[in-house]
Amino acid sequence: MRLHPRTQAAKESIFPKMSALAQRLGAVNLGQGFPSTPPPPFLLEAVRRALGRYDQYAPPAGLPALREALAEEFGEEPEAVVVTSGATEALYVLLQSLVGPGEEVVVLEPFFDVYLPDAFLAGAEARLVRLPLGEGGFRLDLGALERAITQRTRLLLLNTPMNPTGLVLGEAELQRIADLARRHDLFLVSDEVYDELYYGERPRRLREFAPERTFTVGSAGKRLEATGYRVGWIVGPKAFMPTIAGMRQWTSFSAPSPLQAGVAEALRVARREGFYEALRESYRKRRDLLAGGLRALGLRVYIPEGTYFLMAELPGWDAFRLVERARVALIPASAFYREDPPEGLFRFAFCKKEEELELALKGLAPVVNSLA
Ligand SMILES: *Cc1c(COP(=O)(O)O)cnc(C)c1O
Repeated sequence: MRLHPRTQAAKESIFPKMSALAQRLGAVNLGQGFPSTPPPPFLLEAVRRALGRYDQYAPPAGLPALREALAEEFGEEPEAVVVTSGATEALYVLLQSLVGPGEEVVVLEPFFDVYLPDAFLAGAEARLVRLPLGEGGFRLDLGALERAITQRTRLLLLNTPMNPTGLVLGEAELQRIADLARRHDLFLVSDEVYDELYYGERPRRLREFAPERTFTVGSAGKRLEATGYRVGWIVGPKAFMPTIAGMRQWTSFSAPSPLQAGVAEALRVARREGFYEALRESYRKRRDLLAGGLRALGLRVYIPEGTYFLMAELPGWDAFRLVERARVALIPASAFYREDPPEGLFRFAFCKKEEELELALKGLAPVVNSLA
C-alpha cells in the first residue's frame, strides 16, 4: 500500500522543526513568526464573551458581523468578503479556484513557504521571479516579472509587505503590476497579512489598481497577534465570492464561530483605539534594537520596510550549528528559495520581547567574533 504521490507536499517544514529544537535546547526562538506576548486584552475579552453565544457552525462565507466589519474597513460590501481558517486556507482555496493542470502561477522568490505546495496541489506550475539582492536590499525587477508571463500564466501571486524580505511595494509598482495583469488577462492574489505592519507611509493596496481581478488575503492572526485563532479572509470581486465561499465548504466549512465573533468586535476596537499605530511603534522599536545590535556585531542587515522580519548575513553558518552554538533559532534563506539560496542569509523574527532580542544578540556575539 502506498499514499498518493501528491503527499510529497507533506515534507516536513523547517519552521516547526526549528521551534521544537529551540525549545529542546532552551534557545531564543527568532525563527517561526509568532509573537511571544499575549494578544490584546480587548480581543481576549471579546472571544470570552462570544463563547456560549456563537457555538455552532458559521456560514461558509463567514459570520455576518465579521464580513460587515471587514467590508467597512475595505470600503466594500459584505458580499465581497469570505472568512477563512487563517490566510493559509484562503491561499489554498484561491489556488484551487483559480488555476489547474497545464497552467502557471508566477511567484516572487524568496517566497512564503505555502505558495509552492498550494500551486502543486492545484496541479499548476509555479514560475519563480527572483528578487535581486543588492547593497540596499531586495527589490522587485518588473522586467523579470513581465518576462515570466507566458501563454499559460493565469495568476500573479504577490505578498506585500513581504515575508521574508520586508519589502513593501510602492504605488508605481502596484500600478505597473495591475497594468500587466490587465494586458495579459491575469488574476492577482495579493497576500497582505502584514497590511498593518509597515514603517513608512501607509501603503496602497493592489486591489485599488485592479479591483476586477484582485483577491486580497488577510489574517487576524498577524494583525491581532493571535496566530492560533485561525481567522483569515479574502476580499475579492463580488461576482466570484459566492463560488469561493462554496469551495471552502470542502476544506474547513467554517472558521471557528466564537473566534470569528471575537475578531469582528476586536477589529473595530483596534481601529477605533489606535491599536495598530501602537503596534507599529512597538515593532519599529524592536526592529531598530535588533538591526542596530546585529550591525554593531559587524553583520550585514537588510532593514525591512514592513512585517516583523528582517534578513541578515552570517556567512559560513548554518541554522543547526547556530542554534547549538549561539542558542538562537533562525530560519535559513533556503526555506524561501526553491534552489540556490543566497549563502549565509537568515531570517530573524522580531515579534518577540525586547529581552529575547537582547538575549539573542548576546548569544550571537561570541559566535560572530569567532568567525573573524
Ligand atoms: C503567516 C503568513 C500567512 C498565513 O497566515 P495564517 O492566518 O496564520 O494562516 C500567509 N502569508 C504570509 C506571508 C504569512 O507570513
